[in-house]
Amino acid sequence: MDFEIQLCTEDQRKKKVADSELAFGTQFTDHMFLMKYKDEKWGTPCVIPYQSFQLDPACAVLHYSQEIFEGMKAFPHPDGSINLFRPFENAARFNLSAERMCMPQVNEDLFVKAILELIKVDKDWVPHSPETALYIRPTMIATEKFLGLRASSEFYFYVILSPVGPFFKEGFKPTKAYVASQNVRATPGGTGEAKTGGNYAATLHETCIAKSKGYPQVIWLDAIHRQFVEEASAMNIMFIIDDEIYTPPLEGTILKGITRKSVLELAQNLGYTVHEERIKIDTIVDQINKGQCTEAFFVGTAASITPIGHIFHKDEDHIVNNFNVGKITQHLYDELVGIQTGIIDDRFNWTYRID
Ligand SMILES: *Cc1c(COP(=O)(O)O)cnc(C)c1O
Repeated sequence: MDFEIQLCTEDQRKKKVADSELAFGTQFTDHMFLMKYKDEKWGTPCVIPYQSFQLDPACAVLHYSQEIFEGMKAFPHPDGSINLFRPFENAARFNLSAERMCMPQVNEDLFVKAILELIKVDKDWVPHSPETALYIRPTMIATEKFLGLRASSEFYFYVILSPVGPFFKEGFKPTKAYVASQNVRATPGGTGEAKTGGNYAATLHETCIAKSKGYPQVIWLDAIHRQFVEEASAMNIMFIIDDEIYTPPLEGTILKGITRKSVLELAQNLGYTVHEERIKIDTIVDQINKGQCTEAFFVGTAASITPIGHIFHKDEDHIVNNFNVGKITQHLYDELVGIQTGIIDDRFNWTYRID
């Protein structure tokens, strides 16, 4: 499909922030991708200057949250090329989310091509310092103007780019997590597996409580037993017990993380035993206290691997590995980030080069 490309004028160009000043998701590049859906078909794929939308106040996304998104990163490689990490996995997941939210499918080659064409135009925006990357946010919103509750017949599919610094300003250091005691994130039969806005809005209430107590992250439990560990608000979770890796299975309420999948594949390749099985929070904190569970960490695109140093559960703090980064966590982090940034040879063929 032919892309229409409309470049910024000189005075539309934004000032770039120095790599050292980059935060997460506050700075956006000069261009964006936009394609509109109407009359049961997608229109022309366009790269246009980054701009605001004019949306009718009655449009569907603003009332009933018919919205999906993806999160991925492009990394500069030492040879000067820019590389995506498993972009077709994001394209496939975007379509799974679209199906669940009753939104149209986007051709997966077109999804990846939209990102490639956009990054080519904005390639000067890819930061080059260690731990920086270009964060990519493909999004689809329901734009039809009506207040009835039914699926919209009009949509925007758009992609914006944000040069980002380290997700956690403190760097690769253990974080503190608070086990949700009031709310749940997802329910069986619900939308937990879809990357759709409402799931994240649902996490804000208890996350505010956790943050006010000094815990940046919430660990969500299953909705039925309030006992099985699911994941964080936007990251999956793993534990190391007796030097083996444990993570909850994907049973519909947990987002199918591409980092999760990659870490499991990588770990097996490195000779670790991995288990995808249900994990009770009471059991895990007991194993932490007895020294059997020696490491815990979150996995996701935004922060790759984040060690967990404290788990707050039932009014008690449980300290993991003395608040130090564990050796298996470090090993997996070095391998994953090494492959993503081109420092380690990509034996899995995960990186996708932008020429
Ligand atoms: C995006 C997301 C993840 C991580 O997925 P990645 O593909 O690894 O970035 C995990 N959990 C939730 C709820 C998410 O939204």
